[in-house]
Amino acid sequence: MIKTILLDVDDVLCDCTGACMRHMGLFDWKREDYIIEDRDIYREFANITGIDFSPQRFWEHFKREFWAGIEVTPWCYDLIDLCAKYVSPDNIALCTSPTKCGDCLAGKLDWIEENMPSWLHRQYLMTPRKHFCAAPGVVLIDDASENTMAFRGSGGYSITFPQKWNHARGRVGAEMEYVKGFLDFYNSCDF
Ligand SMILES: [Mg+2]
Repeated sequence: MIKTILLDVDDVLCDCTGACMRHMGLFDWKREDYIIEDRDIYREFANITGIDFSPQRFWEHFKREFWAGIEVTPWCYDLIDLCAKYVSPDNIALCTSPTKCGDCLAGKLDWIEENMPSWLHRQYLMTPRKHFCAAPGVVLIDDASENTMAFRGSGGYSITFPQKWNHARGRVGAEMEYVKGFLDFYNSCDF
């Protein structure tokens, strides 16, 4: 049985990569265009433009208003509703990693309050080390393979949300079915 579900925010519930690219001037960028498998947005930007910012310099471009204003993904609310079929709302939390910039932390809180149902406004974990939350019966849904692998390695269960840059890329376009299949499986397991 699943006890708790942790939902990543960036590129699961909100269109973070698309918003970053548009913010940096790549207005026509689409996630289908992602051309490298690595999950570093600043590297994708460098790959397209030839402008090779350090990670710190790249992320300095993104202030509180940016993080607060990212659009939700088309499946955002369907995914939350799906999770609520497996556990009670009290056992669902957002789990998101901020950049090193304090504006990001504050903007993410703004985003939660603006875009999430009220019952999630006090159910969030902001940490770059999501695997510290791993435990039997806890499922992390995240688009970053390194996060899902570390979570599983620390005793939790995880679902890699399909995106062009991860190993589930073959299921882009069928995201809900993919996630539901894993949730059904984990819910049938005896942790
Ligand atoms: Mg993410």
